[in-house]
Amino acid sequence: MLAVKITNFLSFLNQKKYPFYFFIIGISFVVYAVILNQIKTYTELKENNFNSFLKSEEFKNIKGFVFENIKSPYKEYSHTVEKNDTLEKVLKTYNIDNGEISNLISEIIKKKLFNISAGAQIQIITKKEKGIKKIISLFYPIDAITSVEVKRNKDTFQVSKIILKLNKKEIVLSNTIKNNLYSSAIKAGVEPNIIVEFANIFGFEVDFQRDIRRGDTFEIYYEQFVDDDNVVRRTGKIIYASMFVNNKEISLYNFKYKNEIGFYDVGGKSVIKTLMKTPINGARLSSSFGMRKHPILGYNKLHQGTDFAAQTGTPIMASGSGVILRAQKYKGYGNYVSIKHNSTYVTAYGHMSKFGRGIKKGVRINQGRIIGYVGSTGMSTGPHLHYEVLKNGKRINSQRMKLPSGKILNNEARNRFEVERIKIDVRLGELKKN
Ligand SMILES: [Zn+2]
Repeated sequence: MLAVKITNFLSFLNQKKYPFYFFIIGISFVVYAVILNQIKTYTELKENNFNSFLKSEEFKNIKGFVFENIKSPYKEYSHTVEKNDTLEKVLKTYNIDNGEISNLISEIIKKKLFNISAGAQIQIITKKEKGIKKIISLFYPIDAITSVEVKRNKDTFQVSKIILKLNKKEIVLSNTIKNNLYSSAIKAGVEPNIIVEFANIFGFEVDFQRDIRRGDTFEIYYEQFVDDDNVVRRTGKIIYASMFVNNKEISLYNFKYKNEIGFYDVGGKSVIKTLMKTPINGARLSSSFGMRKHPILGYNKLHQGTDFAAQTGTPIMASGSGVILRAQKYKGYGNYVSIKHNSTYVTAYGHMSKFGRGIKKGVRINQGRIIGYVGSTGMSTGPHLHYEVLKNGKRINSQRMKLPSGKILNNEARNRFEVERIKIDVRLGELKKN
């Protein structure tokens, strides 16, 4: 048999057809290379889209990420229409499924309600289902008293034109937390965007992944805008928010002074701390400060920071306001940013996949600004954020530090706050009686 095969093969070579086969193999290789390249371009395209989405959302609202942190499949976006924006273009920015967008647009075109003008606010609520981002509702004004409301109805969209005057109403809702803040608040009837705002207000006091225990409670006093049928069309501001968590009650009051709105505790202390413990949302603490066997060097070494494991591309926030000292490749840290907050504190962030937009040495930034994205550059075994807090040049445990507090209201501001706080307490008591 073998002999026959060899003879066949030799006679095949003798027929001199083999250049033709080489030609076929050559063509196949070219096709393969082209396809490979296409796939690569496609992945890059997807990545770029994702990044531009992150940029577009660059802490205009931290909200989206807070949503993730409190485990909601829903996301809410508030988009300010720019010149030359079309509804389709806006929706595409948020990576909403293309089929969804074209269905929705055709419904809106039927009713001739697609006039959006620059400066208008579009409210979008989406839900991720089996990896597909769907539109749950959409709301945008087309003039001073007319708005368009789109609601999802199974697989279709119901588009209505709303001409109305809305009435402001105040409401107090509370509940005991069973599983997580989000589901307990939804059960109490709190709108998703209010939950997100609430979580933002408490973000400095409460770590929603680690601190919440079954039986903790919350209370929210806020504004709703209702139509003549008493249907809630929009929500307003949170006036008061309270939580019982970590065995203590924290009550925060909305107070505006000299055009600056903030939330303050009973003692007139701002809720905003100068530094965050966790400058990243949705991450897991993977290695704490202290002695450990170094994962790459192999010997015991003092780990002078805190590691948070998170997916590559997760945004990293400046844990406090300050000036950027470094934004560059730096030793084993890979892509590294350090920020000087005041004469005492510096924070540093390592292993980033890339830097945030506009993050350069000498730039002054505010707390919460995206300074970079999680990666695994430098001496790192997997995507994580290495976070360091330096007090007077010495690295300290960020998770144990007594957080330096934000401002405390004094003098005239304090007096006004006390008056406002008492008013809120009285009103709160009345509303709770009803
Ligand atoms: Zn580390």
